Amino acid sequence: MDAMGPGGVAGTRELERMKILVTGGAGFIGSHLCERLVSEGHEVVCIDNLFTGSRENIAHLESGDRFRFFEHDVQEQFDGQYDRIYNLACPASPPHYQYDPVETVRTNVLGMMNCLDLAKRTGARVLQASTSEIYGDPLVHPQQEAYWGNVNPISKRACYDEGKRCAETLCFDYHREYGVDIRIIRIFNTYGPRMAKDDGRVVSNFVLQALRGEPITIYGDGTYTRSFQYVDDLIDGMIRMMEQEGFVGPVNIGNPGEFTIKELAEQVIELTGSSSEMTYLDAVKDDPKQRKPEISLAKEKLQWEPKVDLRQGLKKTIEYFQSVA
Ligand code: NAD
Ligand code: UDP
Repeated sequence: MDAMGPGGVAGTRELERMKILVTGGAGFIGSHLCERLVSEGHEVVCIDNLFTGSRENIAHLESGDRFRFFEHDVQEQFDGQYDRIYNLACPASPPHYQYDPVETVRTNVLGMMNCLDLAKRTGARVLQASTSEIYGDPLVHPQQEAYWGNVNPISKRACYDEGKRCAETLCFDYHREYGVDIRIIRIFNTYGPRMAKDDGRVVSNFVLQALRGEPITIYGDGTYTRSFQYVDDLIDGMIRMMEQEGFVGPVNIGNPGEFTIKELAEQVIELTGSSSEMTYLDAVKDDPKQRKPEISLAKEKLQWEPKVDLRQGLKKTIEYFQSVA
């Protein structure tokens, strides 16, 4: 594809106004990233095939002159001159990435190669939105970047986990072989406004169930843990990492506050004042039992740590779902 216009922004770095490509920019995290980058004065191009994202997420940006959207699948080549490429294109919720697992692998691997090939041709810097799923069902707790993980390569989650692992491999191989300027962040469970209603991840499921007075669906016995990060904290960490010199990662970006799924359900019920009851369903196969980021590397290299605790973040997320329910 070469529909993105002339590109070419000689001199923008001196003005600190950059031309930035965001793949998957119409999704939950991508739309927040695009919004922040536009508000910082950058020119942002978003490409997305709208599989799980939506034009509604970016409608407020499309009316401005520093943002452009192109419907495009990252599995197909794309072009343009950019200072920065953020690669977020990939369905992120288990039901969505398992819906068509081969597509998920293709998106991860071919999408990453297309970003890296573009960076190789043009000198752009690429940041890959990797994931804590790299660690699989971890045998080390909390997870630090040096841990190689415990992924079942033939499970139903593997299309995502192994796809993301291969994408990291590609980043490092393009970096070592061709000198491509890469950054890798491993994102831990992130939530907030603009998660899709049908997303299927735990925070949006529980908030919507609580607001509708429906049973809160706990898979398994509710003792599995996750560490939940509010989206604004992630965007801060992501941009800091992109602009950090001399450090390519990978680096964990997550909130170390760890909660059982039952504790999450209790907080959501309390904050919504819901009459919903918890219902216990079958456990999900290969579901990681525990997850918590070790973030000392991010603190040291990026002077970053999350600021929004679960209660504050849930309140904002509940307000959002109340407004769109
Ligand atoms: P999301 O599903 O809301 O966003 C993904 C976006 O990518 C959507 O807009 C979707 O339409 C688009 N997309 C999917 N396949 C594509 C393709 N082939 N071509 C072009 N666009 C495509 O999910 P999200 O939570 O915003 O996640 C964004 C990124 O962050 C993903 O790469 C995900 O793996 C990563 N991540 C998210 C979390 C989290 O907790 N939210 C955790 C770890 C990593
Ligand atoms: N989960 C749950 N009920 C739901 C959705 C998810 O109990 O309605 C559980 C899920 O089994 C997992 C945790 O919540 O243990 C986080 O799931 P999510 O899909 O949000 O993210 P991931 O598994 O990718 O961390």
